[in-house]
Amino acid sequence: MSFLLHEIVYFGRSIPWIIIDAMPYFRKWKLQPNKIPSAEEQWSCTKQVLFSHFTIELPLIWLFHPTAEALGMQTYHVPFPSLKTMAPQIFLFFFFEDFFHFVAHQALHTGILYKHIHKIHHKYSAPFGLAAEYAHPAEVFILGTGTILGPLLYCYFTANLHIITVYLWIVLRLFQAIDAHSGYDFPWSLHNIVPFWSGAEHHDFHHMAFTNNFSTSFRWWDRIFGTDDKYREYRARVQASKKALKNATKEQLLEMEQKLMAEVEAEGIIAEREAEARGVLGGKSKTVKTQ
Ligand SMILES: [Zn+2]
Ligand SMILES: [Zn+2]
Repeated sequence: MSFLLHEIVYFGRSIPWIIIDAMPYFRKWKLQPNKIPSAEEQWSCTKQVLFSHFTIELPLIWLFHPTAEALGMQTYHVPFPSLKTMAPQIFLFFFFEDFFHFVAHQALHTGILYKHIHKIHHKYSAPFGLAAEYAHPAEVFILGTGTILGPLLYCYFTANLHIITVYLWIVLRLFQAIDAHSGYDFPWSLHNIVPFWSGAEHHDFHHMAFTNNFSTSFRWWDRIFGTDDKYREYRARVQASKKALKNATKEQLLEMEQKLMAEVEAEGIIAEREAEARGVLGGKSKTVKTQ
């Protein structure tokens, strides 16, 4: 049931984004409007995601239920917990996962961890909904730990957690991950209402620039540790250019934005090469041999 829930929500939530990508009307809200995923790209991504789901997630999910019961999680019990009980627990899981991801994701950006594991997820410099879990099975395992360890620890220490709360948390976490990869920033997107929510506008930059914005749900850790400097500089440059081009046509504005994006992406390609050459513990770059 846990596996089915994951599959239904993952692909179900991706469908609206596939439709939106197929409709030119929505292009004005696309963060990188010149990069629309093709049907072939989306299909090959789906196959890789399904491979990971069946080889890694299915066996792990099989272990989840007995582990949860051994830790005293309520599974078949009724009545279900109230929203008042669930809300703070789910917030705690969001907080835990976000920090876990912030640290683990940065580790995945170094040396062999990047080269052999995280590079797969960075195949798309302009992500789309389906690409949220497009990753090496080891990455699914490492980063998935952040999602599931929170509830397990909570259950261990408080002995007061219902599986329905965990399911609701997983559904919300899937929505967060898929929407963050959607590539669209609408005026009604959550981060425009809740300023510390990351959303697509935050994570799309991570894929485009290869650096900055390592967390998942919230912006605070990147802000506190300064791993959003390039992102904020880029946003400021876009704003300044827009101001300077006050009377420009739509085409001129688009051209300006694409020029800035191309610069960021070019820097990202160099940063990626450097990351691959760097030691895991952040040691000096090895000399990259030229052929
Ligand atoms: Zn990354
Ligand atoms: Zn991503």
